[in-house]
Amino acid sequence: MSALSNSLAATDIASTMHPYTNLRQHEATGPLIIARGDGVRVYDDRGKEYIEGLAGLWSVAVGFSEKRLADAAYKQMLQLPYYHTFSSKSHEPSIRLAEKLVEMTPEPLTRAFFTSSGSEANDTIVKMIWFMNNGLGRPQKKKFISRVKGYHGITVASGSLTGLPGNHRDFDLPAIPVHHLTCPHFYRFGQEGEDEAAFTARLLAELEAVIEAEGADTIAAFIGEPLMAAGGVLPPPAGYWEGVERICRANDILIISDEVICGFGRLGTPFGCQKYNFTPDIITLSKQITSSYMPLAAVMFSEPIYQAIADNSAKLNNFGHGFTASGHPVATAVALENLAIIEEKDLMGNAARLEEKFQAGIRSFADHPLVGEARGAGLIGALELVADKATKRPFDPVGRAGAVANRIGHEEGLIFRSIGDQLALCPPMIVTEDDVAEIMARLGRTMDRLP
Ligand code: PLP
Repeated sequence: MSALSNSLAATDIASTMHPYTNLRQHEATGPLIIARGDGVRVYDDRGKEYIEGLAGLWSVAVGFSEKRLADAAYKQMLQLPYYHTFSSKSHEPSIRLAEKLVEMTPEPLTRAFFTSSGSEANDTIVKMIWFMNNGLGRPQKKKFISRVKGYHGITVASGSLTGLPGNHRDFDLPAIPVHHLTCPHFYRFGQEGEDEAAFTARLLAELEAVIEAEGADTIAAFIGEPLMAAGGVLPPPAGYWEGVERICRANDILIISDEVICGFGRLGTPFGCQKYNFTPDIITLSKQITSSYMPLAAVMFSEPIYQAIADNSAKLNNFGHGFTASGHPVATAVALENLAIIEEKDLMGNAARLEEKFQAGIRSFADHPLVGEARGAGLIGALELVADKATKRPFDPVGRAGAVANRIGHEEGLIFRSIGDQLALCPPMIVTEDDVAEIMARLGRTMDRLP
């Protein structure tokens, strides 16, 4: 380690608190300091090269060295580095981006509201729906339905929608009315003797039973990721989303498709709802919207929702919600350039074309003695490590195998994300066939070295 990185590491330990980290362990091991990026690769402060197999945090579609995004940010900073969108103020990049997103997203979405993070976007959705339903004279219609292992963020409301124990434990969440349904992951949650179709039918019956018990007039919305990503890369069973949509429509329950990861082609279709054949009333977007070069998220929603909110804002003389950085000009300018690159380079088409090769690579590990399930869709995949393949018994204590794999992966020059004992991959959408082959080779060497 160089003197600089030594002192940087020491300063990191002395002066920061890392998200999603065992902080005492971090004090002992120190940070992995990433110093620069180039295409699908990043380099640490000692010059070691890694393929970024998770695109940062599932987000850097265009890779780590896209100069056009730096130029777009620079140009916008010179022209108008900041302006807000409160009280009817506006600026061209946020208007153009809203227009672009309405054009890209499926019908019936006609409106955009901007925030800086996926969590803020989902908090905004909760508040929009409460504001709307109060305005419509149905103040009891406030509850949300989510799923165990769903991930919707970490703020008080979005963290409540999230269905992961690690995000609730000792944070006193959930703090809003939310019911978490069974996780739609057949490998882990299917019952003895049940096939996938029977599993889907059981999950849909559970949804109907919850609506019956709670009363449809108390349930505002169902929120879900088309494919659950941060919960472990869990594609839904066949027919699941079509069934959810049918039941929600029959009960006047809004459908929110949280596409913070699935949006912009990740699953081989422009949006995840199109992969699984359902039509949401609201879509949450973030991450690949700017390739994470700037923080930005968008809530896309339908005209009836807008009209109801607008009516209530007229009654109260305000829609009293918004962030200093809502529609930030530099972030929205970068998003516009990023989406132009995604279109010009046909990165959504690239993801669709490489899906077969990438998924075949992931599934080639299915026979490995430590792999319980190899799964995914589009350019996202995971290996679930198990101590016993026949009984699906997880490693004990939870997470150790994943953490070991992570460390060996780093040595082999591959960054992925271990979620407990699930190894998740989600490479930048600029990957080539050769990159996919190299990712699988490095993953193979990592798996070969697992104790
Ligand atoms: N929703 C989904 C589906 C996500 O995957 C994430 C983050 O990974 C979020 C919401 C929260 O986004 P953020 O971390 O920007 O708050």
